[in-house]
Amino acid sequence: MSLGLVTVSYIGAIILFILSLGGLSNPETARRGNWLGVVGMGIAGFATVFGPGVAAIGLPFIIVAMAIGGTVGLYAAKKVQMTQMPELVALMHSLVGLAACTIGYASRIDTSTVFATAAEKSIHEIEIYVGILIGAVTFSGSIVAFGKLSGKIGGKPVLLPGRHWINLAALVVVILFGFVFVGTHSAFAAGFALFVMTAIALGFGVHMVMAIGGADMPVVVSMLNSYSGWAAAATGFMLSNDLLIVTGALVGSSGAILSYIMCRAMNRNFISVIAGGFGSGGGTVASTASGGPVGEVSPISAAETAELLNESKSVIIVPGYGMAVAQAQHTVNEITQKLRAKGIQVRFGIHPVAGRMPGHMNVLLAEAKVPYDIVMEMDEINADFPETDVAIVIGANDIVNPAAQEDPGSPIAGMPVLEVWKAKTSIVMKRSMASGYAGIDNPLFYKENNRMLFGDAKKMLEEVAKAI
Ligand code: NDP
Repeated sequence: MSLGLVTVSYIGAIILFILSLGGLSNPETARRGNWLGVVGMGIAGFATVFGPGVAAIGLPFIIVAMAIGGTVGLYAAKKVQMTQMPELVALMHSLVGLAACTIGYASRIDTSTVFATAAEKSIHEIEIYVGILIGAVTFSGSIVAFGKLSGKIGGKPVLLPGRHWINLAALVVVILFGFVFVGTHSAFAAGFALFVMTAIALGFGVHMVMAIGGADMPVVVSMLNSYSGWAAAATGFMLSNDLLIVTGALVGSSGAILSYIMCRAMNRNFISVIAGGFGSGGGTVASTASGGPVGEVSPISAAETAELLNESKSVIIVPGYGMAVAQAQHTVNEITQKLRAKGIQVRFGIHPVAGRMPGHMNVLLAEAKVPYDIVMEMDEINADFPETDVAIVIGANDIVNPAAQEDPGSPIAGMPVLEVWKAKTSIVMKRSMASGYAGIDNPLFYKENNRMLFGDAKKMLEEVAKAI
């Protein structure tokens, strides 16, 4: 393939990636957006592999590597449960980071490039240094995020004494060694500087994500997404590949925008999330001994729930992580249809961090064919709870926790939540009194107008559907 054709293919791929991002911003066009991305990536891969950058002798190796990588990717994507998606994404980000590191080292070892000026050589060295730096942080940070999300590492923030000073010292050393790497004529000194910086960056990635509490993990996942984009862009600079630079910048900036949006949705300051320490462990049983909410909870049966729903005029359904675990979205849609057929207004309230990844609930509801126009964002629906007869919470916990508003000492204080307790009656469906991801008590369960429907969400919803 000639260079001209490769350039044209790259431009085509970039346009497809931009259209893909545009499509992914709306559930109705997300499927098409995904396909545009797939086609763009196919064109980009084909043009790169068959372009002038790859020598014929290397082609068989690349094709075998692509076949192996493609098979592993296909297998993982087919096998992964929807609820494990964030873990898979974190693991994939780690690969982008690792690729940036290995390409950085390969560029360093490769002495075939001839530079016209000393400045050009220095710029190339800075690209290598920065590329490995971002890549190493992304790699180790994503591995720890994977461990936390999959429960292999505890969700509690690990806060080293003087952690900010440790980070600051690491930054200073990295900058100093950067000057050594670019300035020195000794191959040994340059190699040593690169090595020390890589070790520090790997340690920093671990330290940064370990310090982040469970409740703030969504922001970290999208932040690592952004880092992986910048790592890819840095790789693009090292390889002088324009497509990688643009694609990396698209991923980097969209990840950064998403992190910002999520921080705003959770009323968090971006810097303090990075500094770490918010939230606490995941999934512990609620304790009422340590000043948590106390009182009686009022259980309700599936038949009584159906009766309440039948008698209501307006219903808001708030799905959460438990709906995903129980795979109850199809039964939720069935109930929605039944109630709507009776003239009852049914709408959904979606919290930006419901479930375990951004857009988790939207994807599940779209899969179950819930009409898009009744699926509302938190800000669109929160004011409507006081005029709502029944708010039904399906496997959600943290996102409907009134402690965020009522208890300034709560780890989620200030986080906007769906105010389901303002409805005439709220019904919470879950299996036990256990806490949610943030590991904190939920006073909603003890409110006078709240009922608890205990059991697996799918099983209970099937009983409710039958009774309706
Ligand atoms: P939570 O994790 O707060 O609560 C989910 C609840 O679902 C649990 O309390 C659990 O209670 C219940 N549950 C689990 N399985 C079932 C089942 N089979 N049937 C019925 N109920 C079930 O989820 P939310 O969606 O309310 O909040 C999301 C949390 O996850 C937030 O803290 C957010 O910060 C965090 N997070 C979000 C990410 C994102 O991007 N969206 C990424 C990472 C973390 P029980 O065990 O009693 O059944």
